[in-house]
Amino acid sequence: MELKGIGVGSKAVVGDVFRLETSEAVAEHQKTSHTPGEETSVLATAIATTAATIRSETASSDPTTIEIMDALLIILEDPELQQMAKPHLEAGFDAPTALFKALDEFAELMGDDEDFKSRVGDLRGIATRISSWVRGIAQGPSIPQEGRWIIVADDLTPLETSQFGPSVVGVVTELGGPTSHTAIICRALSLPAVVSAKGAMALEQGSSVLVDPVGNRVLPDSDLSQATQSISFIPHADTPLITVRANIGGLEDAKKASATSARGVGLFRTEVLYLAQASEPSIEQQTSAYTEVLKAAPAGKIIIRTIDAGSDKPVPFLKLGNEENPALGVRGFRLNTKHGGFVISQLKAIAAAINATGRDVGVMAPMVSSVEEVRTFAALCAEAGIQSVGIMIETPAIISLMPDLAGLVNFVSIGTNDLSQYLFAADRMHPELGGFSNPWQPGLLRNVSQVVTHAKALGIPVGVCGESAANPLLAIVFAGLGVESVSAAPSAVDSVSEALRAVGAQKASEAATLALRASTAEDAEASVRSLFEGD
Ligand code: PEP
Ligand code: MG
Repeated sequence: MELKGIGVGSKAVVGDVFRLETSEAVAEHQKTSHTPGEETSVLATAIATTAATIRSETASSDPTTIEIMDALLIILEDPELQQMAKPHLEAGFDAPTALFKALDEFAELMGDDEDFKSRVGDLRGIATRISSWVRGIAQGPSIPQEGRWIIVADDLTPLETSQFGPSVVGVVTELGGPTSHTAIICRALSLPAVVSAKGAMALEQGSSVLVDPVGNRVLPDSDLSQATQSISFIPHADTPLITVRANIGGLEDAKKASATSARGVGLFRTEVLYLAQASEPSIEQQTSAYTEVLKAAPAGKIIIRTIDAGSDKPVPFLKLGNEENPALGVRGFRLNTKHGGFVISQLKAIAAAINATGRDVGVMAPMVSSVEEVRTFAALCAEAGIQSVGIMIETPAIISLMPDLAGLVNFVSIGTNDLSQYLFAADRMHPELGGFSNPWQPGLLRNVSQVVTHAKALGIPVGVCGESAANPLLAIVFAGLGVESVSAAPSAVDSVSEALRAVGAQKASEAATLALRASTAEDAEASVRSLFEGD
């Protein structure tokens, strides 16, 4: 039985199925015969021990995961939470029950806090580990350190991916899409994965499967000889057909990017620095953070994006509050209406970092959808002394307004993750709508082509910085459409560069024509792939 899904990565892998299921049993309410005093110290010890274990497990994870986990542990270690557990301990409940009850009350208190709500699932996950420790229950089988395991799950949270060690060789998820947390982490860790694979949870525990990301499928009882071969590009030019840059979220990423062939940075996601920050950073703190990143970043132009908080990227100090439809709410550059002070201080800090390092920097605004917003941003940049000003193309409205942007912007960068979300009216984090985020969707590619036409008419360069550009074949398609630069996670930069050193303008243009002609994502990918097979 073959499972179809969406592949992440270009290498196939064989391993044994390790199904991760969330155990709810440990959360059941239980009374205890211990005194409240005894149970209070059990709770304190359980929290401290579990927190220490999780910190050591995540010590070598990526910086974003470490920050997210730290923010979660800080909430669980908060004496106020333990204080809230006290009445339940005094009522005779055991430590785990009191902890869950306290967490429920805490969640109620934080009711409107979007940031807290997005973390409740992970907090309960950690509370479940604390409970398992107290009750001596092995919380489901934990991933064995030995062997070669393919982790199979509905979807994975940061807590779960942070536990991956060297025995994890691949991932299959029933839900999620190519822009889900799972896909982004797998790409960063170079772990082959197939997401949105319907029927994955029916795979037998311990059975052998082939994860074939290039073929967008999972095959039971198969070996590597049955894997779909990724196109092996043989570079013949010293430089890629178009510029390849790196996407970064902070200093560690900037260092990683410098070890690749990236020519500069196509997207510095500044909000990543602040995902766990409770108080607003001062201009001085921001200047020093941006300066460090600029110094460490690879040679070439660096494009910094002003804060893109909200929706799937909660930033605690902005206190964004609850929204019915956060992806359609106050996020991206719209934050300027609510937190204009922060955007202004960010631009000042970026200008200071440019002065301190002498680097060639462009600054762009995320998720704009009107000419007024672009005018406002351009004026703020001018006031801060920033010369190279751009915007992200992430909304359908701004595509049609591009002809009106003459003289306002120096470059544009297409964020295909959000552009798909808004073109298809499909939440990019929705576990069941992953197919709409497939970057081969002709509905997306034809809009990218439209953006290029508008950018050429304006005489400004256009890049692509969404996850789509991490796919070498799509990077070729973008080059063929007339895009001047692509950027991807540091782990994907070299394979994208290699592909773009192997093709000429003529072949890229043929690939683009085939992709635009297709009417489904599957046909677009298959026809472009067949163009390079046997080369
Ligand atoms: C995008 O939307 O494609 C993008 C690059 O921005 P982010 O993924 O950070 O929203
Ligand atoms: Mg975006």
